[in-house]
Amino acid sequence: MKPKLKREFKNKTYFRMGKFPVNYVLDNIIDNKDESDIAINGVNVYMSSQRYKLFKYKGIRCIKCGIVGEYFILEQHRQKSAYESKRFHFNLYGIDKNGKEMLMTKDHIIPKSKGGKNGLHNLQPMCMKCNNEKDDKMPKNSNGRKIRWKKQN
Ligand SMILES: [Zn+2]
Repeated sequence: MKPKLKREFKNKTYFRMGKFPVNYVLDNIIDNKDESDIAINGVNVYMSSQRYKLFKYKGIRCIKCGIVGEYFILEQHRQKSAYESKRFHFNLYGIDKNGKEMLMTKDHIIPKSKGGKNGLHNLQPMCMKCNNEKDDKMPKNSNGRKIRWKKQN
């Protein structure tokens, strides 16, 4: 079920500039952090985000509930004043079973609060709902639920 355009662009949290196919963003990731901006619709967008790399290399499916990211929206946070939030950035969204937009996030497998690192080996794609439920719990290993990531070589 696809949301109507109107609703997509009504958002209290973000000012939204445009909708982009998943591959558009993942194909434009820039590895060089010093020259990582590209101009899109007249704004500079930082394309070296660890979040984009996570989606590119580990997929766009929530490892917990299976919801899949369907499109990116170029947006800017309305309230937060931090530089990172003020910049336009791409957020990935899936559509949940009720037809509502669901933000796809990067989850730290071992939570940062427990010493987990920011490297890709410790990140996995997860929707906002599952991420909120997980909170800062440690990953489970003993009851058959395997952590679904492969060690980087
Ligand atoms: Zn989920």
